Amino acid sequence: MADPAAVLATDAHNALVFWSVVVFVLGAVVGSFLNVCIHRMPRSLSIVRPASHCPQCGKPLRWYHNIPLLSWLALRGRCAFCGAAISPVYFIVELLNAGLWLALWLKFGLSPQLGAYALVVSLFLVGMFVDLEHYILPDEVTLGGTVAGVIFCVVFPQQMQNASDWTTGLWQSVVGLAAGGGGLYAVRWFGNLLFGRKVHEFEKAVSLVLDKGRVRLDDGEEPAEEEDVKEVLTSRRDRVEFQADSGQVGSQNIAGLTVRITASELTVGGQQWPLRDAPRLEATAHQIELPREAMGLGDVKLMMAIGAFFGWASVLFSLILSSLLGSIVGLLLIAFRAHQWGRPIPYGPYIVAASFVWIFFGTELTRWCLNVPIR
Ligand SMILES: [Zn+2]
Repeated sequence: MADPAAVLATDAHNALVFWSVVVFVLGAVVGSFLNVCIHRMPRSLSIVRPASHCPQCGKPLRWYHNIPLLSWLALRGRCAFCGAAISPVYFIVELLNAGLWLALWLKFGLSPQLGAYALVVSLFLVGMFVDLEHYILPDEVTLGGTVAGVIFCVVFPQQMQNASDWTTGLWQSVVGLAAGGGGLYAVRWFGNLLFGRKVHEFEKAVSLVLDKGRVRLDDGEEPAEEEDVKEVLTSRRDRVEFQADSGQVGSQNIAGLTVRITASELTVGGQQWPLRDAPRLEATAHQIELPREAMGLGDVKLMMAIGAFFGWASVLFSLILSSLLGSIVGLLLIAFRAHQWGRPIPYGPYIVAASFVWIFFGTELTRWCLNVPIR
C-alpha cells in the first residue's frame, strides 16, 4: 500500500503542474490577441475583423500559422506565403503575457487578485508596445484600466485594497487614481515649464504648412504627417516659433519675419489671427523652436490606472522606479549611440515595468521600507 500522504502530495503536485501549463497556454493565446490590439488599436482598425493576415502580402493566415509561440518559431519569423519577416514583437508579447500569467498564478493562486492582475498585465503590455512604436498610450488601456481598477476595488475591497467594506475599497481606489493623475500631472507641468522648449537646428531647411488648424512639418527624412495643432500644442504655454527663410501667409511674402503658432493664434511679424481664421501659411526655416514634452498626457492617465488598482503607495513607487529605469536606459542608449538626440523616448514602458515590479513585490517592499503594511 502506498502512503496516502505521499499519494496526496503527488496528486497535488500533478494538479499544480497541470494548471500551470493551462494558465501558460491561456496566457499565450491571449498574448496573441494582444498582438492584434497592439497592431490595430493605434491605426483605429477593428480588433475583430478581418481575420489575421500577413501585413506584407495580405494573405489570410491558416489556423496552424496562428498558434501562439509555436508558429513563429516553426516559421522562423517569416510569412509562410511570401517569406516577409514577421516582427519578433509578436513572439515576445505572447511569451511575456504567458510568463507573467504563470507567475501571477504561482504567486496568487485562484483568487480575485489573479483575475485583476492578469487583466492589468495584459492591458499594460498593449500600452507598452504601442507606446514603444507610436509614442502614444491608447485610452482603451489607460482609461479602461482606471475604470476596471475602481470596479475591482469595489467588488473585492478585501483582496485588492485590504479594506473591510466596499466604500473603503472605493475610497482607497479613488485616492489612488487622484494621486496618480494629479501627481503626474504636476510633474508634467513642472517638467514642461523647466525643459519645455527646444530649438532644433536643421542642415537642410524644413518646410512647415499650416492650414485650417492643421500643421505639417517636413524635415525630408521621415514621411511627414498632418496633425491637429491642438494635439501638438496641448498647453497654453506651448508654441512653435521660427524665423522664416522664405514662405507666404495668404499671398503675402514672409521671408525674414518671425512666425509664432500657439494653440489659439498665428502671429507673423506684427500681424495676428485667431488660428481658425488664419490664412494658409507655408514657410521654410533652418531653426525652429518646438515644445518638448517631458511627458505625455497618456503617461498621466496610465498612472491614474495604476493608482486605481493598487492605491497611492503604488503611484509613488512606480514614479520613482520608472524615472530611475528611464534614466539608466536613456543614458545607455545614448552611450551606445542607439538613440538620436531630440527624438522622444517613450516613458510609458518604464511606468509599465515599474507597475509589474509593484504587483509582485509591492507589499513586501512597503513593509520592508516602512516596516508597516500600507495596503
Ligand atoms: Zn506574407
